[in-house]
Amino acid sequence: MITTHALTKSYMVGDERLLVLRGIDLAIEHGSMIALTGASGSGKSTLMNILGCLDVADSGEYRIGDELISAASTDRLAELRNRYIGFVFQSFNLLPRMSALENVALPLRYQGVSNPLPIAMSALEQVGLADRQYHEPNQLSGGQRQRVAIARAMVNNPSLILADEPTGNLDSTTTLDIMGLFKTLHQQGRTIIIVTHEPEIAEFCQQQLVMKDGQIMDHVMRVTTL
Ligand code: ADP
Ligand code: MG
Repeated sequence: MITTHALTKSYMVGDERLLVLRGIDLAIEHGSMIALTGASGSGKSTLMNILGCLDVADSGEYRIGDELISAASTDRLAELRNRYIGFVFQSFNLLPRMSALENVALPLRYQGVSNPLPIAMSALEQVGLADRQYHEPNQLSGGQRQRVAIARAMVNNPSLILADEPTGNLDSTTTLDIMGLFKTLHQQGRTIIIVTHEPEIAEFCQQQLVMKDGQIMDHVMRVTTL
């Protein structure tokens, strides 16, 4: 269970303090698949970065299970990112002069896993890219790059996968392929949160959180999913 209580976050812009999250209360069951929607600028990426332990809130509480993440040390946040959380970004964020396989192996290397390549290869197989292991990102299509990024996000077997507009740079057919992969990761028991602008993507998810001006405006539960 992921819970937040009264999370706030602001940024200083010049002399002005811009309040971006205005008290976020969430309760997300383990194993949920959730779409996070809302207008541009409503605070979705800011919230995802906090949930992903890439950033910290100004005030309020964030818990994963019993652990109070909002009070965790920087080292502990790094450990949580490495062990429990996988992140997928709109712009893929792959390292350019490294093969697909080495990109996927990177989180394992950070963790000090001694023989990472077979594990990375198995993740590449799961996203259907075993035959592209030696390709560098610029030798792959957008959809293939995002598959590599998903393989990298899942290579540690994280229980939580966060994806910030993962299909924002992809055409509609490729988008469906990528959503199919997220669906599989969900069916394997992981919690998945996906930021999206596209209603068709939100329909893949059991739940939809709608943000507006730094607050959660709506939490929609679906009875059936595609
Ligand atoms: P969304 O992902 O929903 O488009 P963001 O969380 O990226 O929204 O941004 C929310 C608001 O915070 C926007 O007004 C944006 O300009 C502002 N913002 C985001 N990151 C920063 C930052 N690092 N410094 C200053 N303002 C920021
Ligand atoms: Mg954003």
